[in-house]
Amino acid sequence: MLRPERPANEAQRLAALQRARVLDTPHEATFDDLVRIAAAICDVPMAIVSLVDAERQWLKARIGVDVSETSRNDSFCAHAILDPETMMVVPDAFDDPRFHENPLVVGAPYIRFYAGVPLLDPQGFPLGSFCVMDRRPRELDDDQNHALTALARQASRLIDLHRLGLELGHHLSERDWYEQQLQQYQTELERQNADLTELTRTDPLTGLPNRRAFSQALDEVTEAGVPYAVAICDIDHFKTINDVHGHPEGDRVLCAVAAALRDQHAARGRVARFGGEEFVLLFPATGREPAAMQCERLREAIAHLPVGLPLTVSIGVAEGAPGEHGEAVVARADAALYSAKRGGRNQVAVG
Ligand code: GH3
Ligand code: MG
Ligand code: MG
Repeated sequence: MLRPERPANEAQRLAALQRARVLDTPHEATFDDLVRIAAAICDVPMAIVSLVDAERQWLKARIGVDVSETSRNDSFCAHAILDPETMMVVPDAFDDPRFHENPLVVGAPYIRFYAGVPLLDPQGFPLGSFCVMDRRPRELDDDQNHALTALARQASRLIDLHRLGLELGHHLSERDWYEQQLQQYQTELERQNADLTELTRTDPLTGLPNRRAFSQALDEVTEAGVPYAVAICDIDHFKTINDVHGHPEGDRVLCAVAAALRDQHAARGRVARFGGEEFVLLFPATGREPAAMQCERLREAIAHLPVGLPLTVSIGVAEGAPGEHGEAVVARADAALYSAKRGGRNQVAVG
């Protein structure tokens, strides 16, 4: 008996077998069908799909054979793979020096006849063999040869499809993972964008909306075509507060005025920091006189703020005329503010 040699490309062949991921997988009806058909066509009691592993042959499908693996040294298929392009036929194992003392010949399952076609992967590596066996010496006719070759090709395809199915499943789960990651990034980006948008609309010192945010609110009101009034509220002699008490104290006063305006006005309309020590107020659906009255109450409330120093504001009010641009109304409120300043400060003037 001659032990099967190792093919010259054995390491790559074994790597290809690992890639196929078919070793030690459960029985599959599709492979079982192929060996059953092969046994019927070739009129033999035994047929197997054998994969030749490093030290064993493992049977993916078998009919008429009881064991699921044998030593590679005893394997006929390990000889068959040495010539990947050719069917190996052993008409009578007793007459073949490679097999006449083989335990599978002299003992169960008593192989005398063997015909095996190498199973090739897409790169042409022989992974094992598709074979039929009998307990008596014999030959196959041409039709049986062709059928066996065709069935072996089907078995090779099945092995490859099996691998593709596994890889596809793997790719799909990876794709799900990537999609999840993308979704998370997207959500995070949207959150950051929302934060940035908020930042560009907010005055960092007082937390009030800034002039830009106010402009948008003003545009919305002018587009709606409803009556509205605008007021600009300016702290009197604020420079003196800074000069006498210092900038941090000035900041504290700005925040106190901002909070008072927000608390008293935010529910009625928009209040924003216009810039410096000036605030702007929007009175939606409000005429000039009611707006002026509300400004008067704001002026008084600010004059009574417990900030520990004298604090007053001057306020200019203007009502939006139909079709008038919002910025023009703001300019008229500014002009009214100027009159309030000239009039002695700590007062409301209507433009
Ligand atoms: P008026 O009564 O005419 O309004 O006089 P005013 O001193 O209030 O006006 P003026 O425009 O002369 O001075 C405004 C000052 O506000 C000048 C500037 O340094 C100060 N200011 C502007 N922004 C800030 C700020 O964020 N913090 C502080 N502490 N001061 C600011
Ligand atoms: Mg000012
Ligand atoms: Mg001022």
